[in-house]
Amino acid sequence: AKQRGKANWVRYAAGMEKPAQAAAQLGGDLRRALDAGEFSLVYQPIVSLVDGRTIGVEALVRWNHPERGMVSPADFIPAAERTGLIVPLGRWVLRETCRQAAAWIAEFGPDVLWKAAPNVSVRQLHDPDFVADVRAALADSGLPADRLVLELTESAVLRGHQVLKVLHELHDMGVRLALDDFGTGESSLSLLRAFPAAVVKLDKSFVDNIELDEEGSAAANARQAVARAVVQLADALGLDTVAEGIENQEQADRLRKLGYTVGQGYFLGRPVDAAAFTARLVAQRKL
Ligand code: C2E
Ligand code: CA
Ligand code: CA
Ligand code: CA
Repeated sequence: AKQRGKANWVRYAAGMEKPAQAAAQLGGDLRRALDAGEFSLVYQPIVSLVDGRTIGVEALVRWNHPERGMVSPADFIPAAERTGLIVPLGRWVLRETCRQAAAWIAEFGPDVLWKAAPNVSVRQLHDPDFVADVRAALADSGLPADRLVLELTESAVLRGHQVLKVLHELHDMGVRLALDDFGTGESSLSLLRAFPAAVVKLDKSFVDNIELDEEGSAAANARQAVARAVVQLADALGLDTVAEGIENQEQADRLRKLGYTVGQGYFLGRPVDAAAFTARLVAQRKL
């Protein structure tokens, strides 16, 4: 068997400089993994903070490595972006998300106000076939365009006319765009003017400890101020919001009081495989 060089891998995953040779090896390993069907998706519910119902789903990629076991995307997405493998991998994620969402809508009915949200890297937006790939994924799955929400991190969209042109084409197709990790980018406010966003996702860092204000914590008060400003801005601009990384009831209550009606996080539902997510929908249908 090929010696892959685990030490290089680990150093690479930690985001440090690595030899070009290691990058090539990793690129080859990712390519092989894609061809071997080692990637899968898990699904995390996006939930109404008002009535607890699932109103959407984020698709998160996993790598089931034959030796390393389940590998987190934080450990391979940066490598996939640098090697370019994110383009075919992201295409697979997009197609699989559309296929699965269309199957759920077929099973549970179109009245479930469903949005399916895969993550998209900026590298994919630079691929000349991206818009055509999205159109094909929708056509082949039968998923209506307005059910698809592409999650983009702010840093991913800060640069360039070409990217904005692509985003406007997607917007014109009816596809919705979400600004992921909102509040952590360099230019959140100015970005919202040029960017045809439909959704902003308040970053988890503003949700962490947001409930701890009893002791007059300056940090918690600052988080609350940011969270409140983001939801007010979104409301004023007609954007939907999702508060991310909600881990307990107190955070959910606090965000609700600040004006959030939709959330995501371990408290509301962990990412699970498709079968477990289907079971969740079956249970919800019985409510
Ligand atoms: P993200 O898009 O911000 O996704 C949210 C991450 O937070 C996920 O980690 C999710 O499992 C985790 N999370 C959700 N709720 C909670 C919570 O209450 N507490 C905590 N501690 N964590 C929570 P995951 O799945 O490891 O993904 C990490 C990042 O990898 C994602 O961040 C996204 O940027 C990237 N990623 C994942 N899948 C894809 C993909 O298919 N394509 C691309 N380009 N990037 C992806
Ligand atoms: Ca995301
Ligand atoms: Ca996020
Ligand atoms: Ca993130």
